[in-house]
Amino acid sequence: MYYIRSVIVCLALQALYVCVHGNGDIIDLTYTFDENTLFFPGHEGFVQEILQRGPYGPLWLESNHIETGEHTGTHMDAPAHLREGELRKGQLRIEVLPVSHLVGPGVKVDISSKATIDPDAQVEINDLMAWEEENGRIPDGAIVMMFSGWGKFYPNRTAYFGSDRNDSYTDENNVSIVHFPGFSTPAAEWLVENRNIVGVGVDTASLDFGQSTNFSSHVVFFEQNIFGLENVANLDKMPTTGSTIYALPMKIKDGSGAPVRIIAIVDDDVINGVSATACNYFLTCFAFFIVFLYKMLF
Ligand SMILES: [Zn+2]
Repeated sequence: MYYIRSVIVCLALQALYVCVHGNGDIIDLTYTFDENTLFFPGHEGFVQEILQRGPYGPLWLESNHIETGEHTGTHMDAPAHLREGELRKGQLRIEVLPVSHLVGPGVKVDISSKATIDPDAQVEINDLMAWEEENGRIPDGAIVMMFSGWGKFYPNRTAYFGSDRNDSYTDENNVSIVHFPGFSTPAAEWLVENRNIVGVGVDTASLDFGQSTNFSSHVVFFEQNIFGLENVANLDKMPTTGSTIYALPMKIKDGSGAPVRIIAIVDDDVINGVSATACNYFLTCFAFFIVFLYKMLF
C-alpha cells in the first residue's frame, strides 16, 4: 500500500512538472522579416511591397513582392561567402549544402555574463572546455550556438551594433566602429580541428566579433564547409544541450547566403535542460518521502 501510494504521488508530481515546464517544446530561433529587420552595415535591408490585398473575383487575394539581401535578418552564410579565387571551387554555395548538415544536435555556449560587461567579448577555447566539462563532448554533427544575450537589443540598430550607421562598419582609417560578441579565431580553429560540427550560429550580426576587420573566424569555419547562422533569435529559450536544430535556408542558386527558418526541438527526455531520468529519480524519492511523512504524522 505504501509503495502504491508513493507511485501515485510520484506520477502526479511528474504530470505537474511537465505541465509547468513543457516537454518536447519547439523554439522558433528566427526573427520576423519586416521593415525593422537588421542587416550588417553595407548590406541590403528587407523590402515588402503589397501587390494585391483585396477582392479578386469571387475570392480574396493577398500577394506581395519582396526584396532582400542574402545576408539580411536571420540568415545562413554559405561557406562560399568569404572564399574567392581558386579556393572558391571547394567551398559550397547555399543550394549545394548537404541537407543532412541542416539538422543537428543543438549546443548553446553561454557567454552572456562576460558579454554584459564587455561588448567585445568572444567565445574562447576555455568557454568550449567549460561547456564540455559540464555537458560532455560536443556531439558529432552539432550546430554550435553562441548565446551572448544580444537578442535583447534587436531590432535597435544602435544598441545591437554599437553604431547607428548602416552604410559602413569602419571609419576612414579602416577601424571597425561596431561592437558585439562573436567567436574568437582560436576557438573557431579548436572547433574545426578537434570536433566534427556542421554549423555555428550567433545571436549577433556576425560570426566574428564586431571589432574584426579580417573575419578570420568566418574563414576558418568556411574552409571546412561549416555554415554560419547570424542574427539567431530566442537563444535564451534554447536549452544548453538536449535539442535538435533545423536550419533550412531558401535554396538560392549560387547563393552566398540566404534567409533561413531555424527551429530547435527540445528532446523528449529533456525538461528545461534537465534529463527526464534525473527528474524521475528525484520525484520518486520525493514521493516516497511525502508518503512516509504522511504516515508518521497521521
Ligand atoms: Zn552573413
